Amino acid sequence: MDQNRAPPPPPTYNEAVPGGVQAQPQPVTVQPAVTVISAGIRYTQVPVSQECPHCHNTIVTTVTYENGTVTYLAAGIVCLVGCWMGCCLIPFCIDACKDAVHCCPNCNIVLGKYSQM
Ligand SMILES: [Zn+2]
Repeated sequence: MDQNRAPPPPPTYNEAVPGGVQAQPQPVTVQPAVTVISAGIRYTQVPVSQECPHCHNTIVTTVTYENGTVTYLAAGIVCLVGCWMGCCLIPFCIDACKDAVHCCPNCNIVLGKYSQM
């Protein structure tokens, strides 16, 4: 049974890549917006001025806050110290405890995320 199988071509490795990079299967996640992670920009909790890689305008990012690991951690800690009568919800009202998501005000693309962890 000769299936006339040609041997696969030898894989070409880029010598600049140390150790070789394996393509890892990524879980398919449905995202509401396209995320463009801008390299080299450190996002914090405050808006930053940058050129949007999507619409190429110089913009100041709009920051939205969403509950992150620290938010729940802080709530847990508040609970542990005895303030469980609603006080544990305080971290959910404090932006400093949340993750900051930076978006472009022009095209609404998500540019990056600042996480407390
Ligand atoms: Zn943009």
